[in-house]
Amino acid sequence: MNIVLMGLPGAGKGTQAAKIIEEFQIPHISTGDMFRAAVKEETPLGLEAKSFMDQGQLVPDRVTIGIVRERLGKDDCATGFLLDGFPRTVPQAEALDELTKDLARELDMVLYIEVDENELLTRLTGRRICRNCGATYHVVFAPTQKEGICDRCGGELYQRDDDKPETVAKRLSVNLEQTQHLLKYYESTGKVHRVDGTQTIDQVTESILSLVRGISK
Ligand code: ADP
Ligand code: AMP
Repeated sequence: MNIVLMGLPGAGKGTQAAKIIEEFQIPHISTGDMFRAAVKEETPLGLEAKSFMDQGQLVPDRVTIGIVRERLGKDDCATGFLLDGFPRTVPQAEALDELTKDLARELDMVLYIEVDENELLTRLTGRRICRNCGATYHVVFAPTQKEGICDRCGGELYQRDDDKPETVAKRLSVNLEQTQHLLKYYESTGKVHRVDGTQTIDQVTESILSLVRGISK
């Protein structure tokens, strides 16, 4: 299965990706996670990406396409992949078409998780991440049993710098515009499946898994 998971920041891509990869055993490739890891390790890629991320801007296509090209060439992608947060621009989508062609592969589906903007603001500012295992929580919608402590591994939770209210609005406006172009690009392929992302986390998972199961038959 070669899947692209689309949705505005906060739509629930990371949350749902965890469930999809569990059932279909394909690698979860999140460009956001890759950039955050590079920032943490202070690599040249991280230093370049950081200034864009801190401002809620997109990292330039050249850089982003480069890391995805490298990642899709790894052995664990031979059975498929779940791309989360890539592509985000039409040039990235065109590059992905080229990449899959080179690998003699084809996208099976583009899942678009739809959530309105007001809801996204609440989700992003309440999001908390485990510093140790990367699990995602929400102070109201997906709280941990013990405040500030990860249920899964006991790690400490933190708030992403770009989830602070001052960056969130900028990120949403940048992504809103690009997402419209991207949806138009993919609409003609007949591969786009829209999912109502305002349902509960479990309901969204059910909707997504039944779509993916239908395609994988
Ligand atoms: P994305 O990867 O698309 O940016 P996340 O999966 O990190 O989004 O979800 C953003 C925030 O919203 C997280 O705090 C998550 O716990 C919460 N969340 C995800 N899906 C739902 C949902 N269906 N209902 C309520 N909150 C949700
Ligand atoms: P995310 O974790 O998907 O919300 O991404 C966090 C940040 O990483 C974004 O706000 C961008 O600055 C950067 N980023 C992630 N994916 C991409 C992409 N496909 N293109 C450009 N920038 C990206």
